[in-house]
Amino acid sequence: MKLHEFQAKELFAKYSIPVQKGTVIENPQQLDGLSLHFPLVLKAQVLVGGRGKAGGIKLAKTPAEAKQHARAILGMQIKGETVKRLLVAEAAEIGAEYYLAFIVDRGAGRLVAIASAAGGIDIENVARTAPEKIAKVALDPFLGFQSFHARGLGGQIGLGGALLTDFVKIAAALYHLCTTEDAELVEINPLAVVGDRLLAIDAKVIIDDNAVFRHPDLPKNEELTELEQLARASGLSYVELDGEIAIIGNGAGLVMSTLDVVAHFGGRPANFLDVGGGATEENMAQAIDIVARKPGVRALFVNIFGGITRCDDIARGITASPPPVQMVVRLTGTNEEEGRKILQAAGIHAYLDPEEAAQRVVSLVRGR
Ligand code: GDP
Ligand code: MN
Repeated sequence: MKLHEFQAKELFAKYSIPVQKGTVIENPQQLDGLSLHFPLVLKAQVLVGGRGKAGGIKLAKTPAEAKQHARAILGMQIKGETVKRLLVAEAAEIGAEYYLAFIVDRGAGRLVAIASAAGGIDIENVARTAPEKIAKVALDPFLGFQSFHARGLGGQIGLGGALLTDFVKIAAALYHLCTTEDAELVEINPLAVVGDRLLAIDAKVIIDDNAVFRHPDLPKNEELTELEQLARASGLSYVELDGEIAIIGNGAGLVMSTLDVVAHFGGRPANFLDVGGGATEENMAQAIDIVARKPGVRALFVNIFGGITRCDDIARGITASPPPVQMVVRLTGTNEEEGRKILQAAGIHAYLDPEEAAQRVVSLVRGR
């Protein structure tokens, strides 16, 4: 379970990790009642990273500027999530930006502490392009995280003097938070030098789902995306992935094999939706609307094996809700002929062979 930045920072404060003074608002008018010193930083509270790059983080020197930014960010979409809350904090004057995290390394079966002097940017990129800039230590579960580990990591990323002392304290506190709250990830990026101290500018905490029940005091966040919630409300089972081909099928087995066959031909599924048995024209139309709305979808693959589900209903659903992206349809089974005729009349070819159809949709997104 992911925590929002403001929730993670409440935990940080509880564990004595220094954070900026701030508060959460839901509308621009709430800025008026705040007793915070300018300049302020306004931060979109969504459960996705890279908010800065997406325009979800803005500095404001005056109340007018703060209002203007608040109006712009609230309601904005970041990677498919609508911004409903803003963290408003006293902006820090940032010197250098470091990175510090504890993460469960499933391969090693251990917690790993990670630190870097290349903070503030996407750590996965640093790991790829300049792995020498990342200091790591895998922790023995019986020994845990000791201050010599912290001093070693801090030294490796170039910290000394009072900053190193600060780093050791913060790292110990973050480790304590991680293990006490059953987190699988705790991350500070950036951990910034402000004056002669270190300050957690950002906060990311993911609680192990299997341990959430042990922490009744933690906030309960809805893990589903907006599209997943919409699908659930319509009784459709829908799951998001991160590729570019949207997939609709009928029946869990067919949908799973469709994912496999798309992957086999080198395609990357963006999501998948199972319209289930006996899907109506309306179900199908709604399914197309949901899968195609996900940002990053470049093509749609509809794979239907009619049984209780009738191909003519499916075809009517497709023509009622033509997707905004290119589509490949494979249709066979009950009322196949009628279904094909309906599609043909709308200029849509229906494939019989799922492999041929999968190859076609993969070649569409690859531009071949
Ligand atoms: P993320 O983009 O979702 O990781 O959000 P962050 O909280 O990490 O903010 C992104 C970037 O915005 C940081 O790396 C900083 O460069 C900048 N930023 C955030 N808060 C402040 C602040 O209080 N003062 C200044 N000067 N910059 C900030
Ligand atoms: Mn960050």
